[in-house]
Amino acid sequence: MPQSHTSLIGMDLSELGEAAVAAGGKPFQGKQLAQWLYAKRELNLDAMTNLSKELRAKLAERPMLTSRVIASEESGEGTTKLGIRLHDGLVIEAVLMREDDRITACISTQAGCAMGCRFCASGQLGLKRNLTAGEILEEFFHLNELMKPDWLTNVVVMGMGEPLHNYDNLLKALTILNADWAFNFGARRVTVSTVGLPKRIRELAEQGFQFNLAISLHGVDDASRSALIPTNAGLQNILDAAKYYFQQTRREVTFEYTLVGGKNDDPATAEKLAELVKDFPKANVNLIPMNPVDGSGLETPSTEAVSLFTELLQNAGVNVHVRRRRGRRVQAACGQLRLKLEEAAAG
Ligand code: SF4
Repeated sequence: MPQSHTSLIGMDLSELGEAAVAAGGKPFQGKQLAQWLYAKRELNLDAMTNLSKELRAKLAERPMLTSRVIASEESGEGTTKLGIRLHDGLVIEAVLMREDDRITACISTQAGCAMGCRFCASGQLGLKRNLTAGEILEEFFHLNELMKPDWLTNVVVMGMGEPLHNYDNLLKALTILNADWAFNFGARRVTVSTVGLPKRIRELAEQGFQFNLAISLHGVDDASRSALIPTNAGLQNILDAAKYYFQQTRREVTFEYTLVGGKNDDPATAEKLAELVKDFPKANVNLIPMNPVDGSGLETPSTEAVSLFTELLQNAGVNVHVRRRRGRRVQAACGQLRLKLEEAAAG
């Protein structure tokens, strides 16, 4: 029988129950499967000793993981970036960052991205397709190999793709991540980073989760923002949706601001940014000095410009952080490992 591309990973409790029944087991064995796969992160069916041999043999007809790691790149600063090939040959990235007691996964939600941000390598190639919930969760299993026996303390959905543009699969994956019958990973330790899709931000606010929200601003008015993010949904719409998110969840909202040399790193822009966020409840601003992206025509900001921009925001009472080199390399450079791998494959 040909193998299906459908793994058990990504199934919710009722789907796992159905998979158990289809393999000759009982519905309650869905919960046992969830315990092994998600709570214990055990992919070896032979280890699942409370399942009969017959059931395990039948379940083994499915692939446990549909993707595989094809490249691993160390930054030397506690950061490892994985290139992961999906079953159809597309390549995505997942990143593990270790710092003191924190172990953070940065995961992708799409192969490529439709948002077209000019400073981003993923945006250059357009959207190839959405990841399934299972493919999103498989990233954790690949990263798990790098951190065993430790486990994650934080998750940022900030890799390749616009998470809210793949809303249903994102929500399913994060629900499984958070569920007490599955990974039981605290929602407050998960940050969803979006370029700002107002309708989806409002929908996420109404789901009853406590995820943190990070919004990529990158401009202080629609003209400057649209120059960097062609799919800009309108600054005021986005800020209104962010306020709604805060009102519903009481979670902090972080604004990400990529500093591009000569484009949005001047003192007048810093003052406008301070004005935009100053009345925002519990707002933080993360400044991300741009990473060079070949062919983008955009430049990294000078050290002096970054310092002055930061100082002006601080003087205006804004809670501001400059993302350090490692984060910049990992997050603003999303998509660059994939580009390299695809170029190598093409060449
Ligand atoms: S920065 Fe994010 S939203 Fe923009 S193109 Fe890149 S992956 Fe997509």
